[in-house]
Amino acid sequence: MTKRISHLGIAVKDLSASEALFKKLLGDENVHHETVEDQGVSIASFKIGESVIELTSPTSADSPIAKFIEKRGEGIHHLALEVDDVAGELARLKAEGIQLIDESPKLGAHEMLIAFLHPKSTNGVLVELCQKK
Ligand code: ZN
Repeated sequence: MTKRISHLGIAVKDLSASEALFKKLLGDENVHHETVEDQGVSIASFKIGESVIELTSPTSADSPIAKFIEKRGEGIHHLALEVDDVAGELARLKAEGIQLIDESPKLGAHEMLIAFLHPKSTNGVLVELCQKK
């Protein structure tokens, strides 16, 4: 079962420019930086109450984020839902006929276990499930 919205991922081309923009937009200078090599992304994230806005930029031209930006431009990239058990939820959703991108959890940003569901199955929204380790 979903506990809360963990974060909203926004695909951006220029991380430092977007970071400056969101500092202005949110009136918040507190930003967390992280690179997740496995996902080919560099992120800058801002905490908003119980949730996080995660600016995500590609680390290389063949990163999935680079392909997303090329195809659809910058903008909202994914919705991340926090659950207690990613592996259990993947099994449940697969049985419900939801198409998975990741068959098993991987290590993502913020030391979370993550897995993506295919947007074809979820109204065009790329959904990430995540779980605190
Ligand atoms: Zn995410």
